[in-house]
Amino acid sequence: MGLEAPRTGSEPLFPVTQLQAWSQRLLGSRLSGALLRASVYGQFVAGETQEEVEGCVRQLQALGLRPLLAVPTEEEPDSAAQTGEAWYEGNLDAMLRCVDLSRGLPESPDLAGKTLMQLKVTALASTRLCKDLTSWITKPGVSSELSPERLAEAMDSGQNLQVSCLNTEQNQHLQASLSRLNRVAQYARDQQVGLLVDAEYTFINPALSLLVAALAVRWNSPREGGPWVWNTYQAYLKDTHERLRRDAEAAHRAGLAFGVKLVRGAYLEKERKVSQLQGTEDPTQPDYEATSRSYSRCLELMLSLVSHHGPMCHLMVASHNEESVRQATKRMWELGIPLDGPVCFGQLLGMCDHVSLALGM
Ligand SMILES: Cc1cc2nc3c(=O)[nH]c(=O)nc-3n(C[C@H](O)[C@H](O)[C@H](O)COP(=O)(O)OP(=O)(O)OC[C@H]3O[C@@H](n4cnc5c(N)ncnc54)[C@H](O)[C@@H]3O)c2cc1C
Repeated sequence: MGLEAPRTGSEPLFPVTQLQAWSQRLLGSRLSGALLRASVYGQFVAGETQEEVEGCVRQLQALGLRPLLAVPTEEEPDSAAQTGEAWYEGNLDAMLRCVDLSRGLPESPDLAGKTLMQLKVTALASTRLCKDLTSWITKPGVSSELSPERLAEAMDSGQNLQVSCLNTEQNQHLQASLSRLNRVAQYARDQQVGLLVDAEYTFINPALSLLVAALAVRWNSPREGGPWVWNTYQAYLKDTHERLRRDAEAAHRAGLAFGVKLVRGAYLEKERKVSQLQGTEDPTQPDYEATSRSYSRCLELMLSLVSHHGPMCHLMVASHNEESVRQATKRMWELGIPLDGPVCFGQLLGMCDHVSLALGM
């Protein structure tokens, strides 16, 4: 898999004039100019070649937008088990090139802030491994064997980690996956590119969060100037507000910078189908309004943490929802959080259905 099409959606670039009209309707013309210049990242099909990507980026910069690139990874192929580590190593190469591309994009002098890109853990570690780790870590009393500190040490030293719940082959795959994650985080830090790690399904999210926490131990310490590795929190899950509060506290206690991409959540139907099939409690909020209330509470929590801890705490408000964006900007104003500070906004500009929804409001 190559990086010819560095993109983060599957639709063409949203026309810039519509985007501008949308942002002005969403935020009001004066606010939109200031806010977009400061902190909105756009997500779109950037092009097939570096030149095309650069052309798109220049267009976006004229609007004060920054790109948020991601490697378009396919679903993990069934053959990945047979091809060993090759598929994941190929994805790692693509991600390293995506870091280069993110770093090498033309920069506009009036766009302050860090370069960010997205990272999908299941492109570097198998879903099977993440599932097995999740079933293990959600059991009570096994946390010390799989602590973020222990994984971080294994990442750094490259020494073989033995986890009792995994067989020899799975342990080897875990070690190789940790090494890939560490290589991409180190390279991103060296190139001054922050990594936003995607949240996926609840049957693997605890493992993804554990891996992010291990990366954070190594790369989000104050001496690194991060956060370089951010996690994603899905407000449609019932336990998200509590988890966010706990993780923020843990990061603060450990003296680590904390980076959060806050979303509503993209896998509602599948989550519900799985819980129905397994006869377990539905992990998602009962309705859209409950998800929105949860989003609003998480937003409030994060903005208050940002206002207390300043640059140690970063937030991306990743939503097209007019009310959420309005709440964020209003509270930023009230709390005195600067527009070019640790809070930014993310939109999937290529996802016409969501943008259309925002336009229609
Ligand atoms: C930059 C960016 C990065 C993203 N990264 C991720 C990611 O890593 N992981 C991920 O899961 N998603 C991700 N998403 C997608 C995101 O989770 C939402 O699906 C999408 O943004 C739509 O939500 P909204 O707030 O923009 O809009 P809205 O239209 O206001 O909200 C739609 C969302 O509300 C929720 N919802 C709808 N109906 C119901 C219902 N009946 N009951 C409960 N909840 C309901 C669902 O979460 C749905 O997606 C990302 C989005 C953006 C913009």
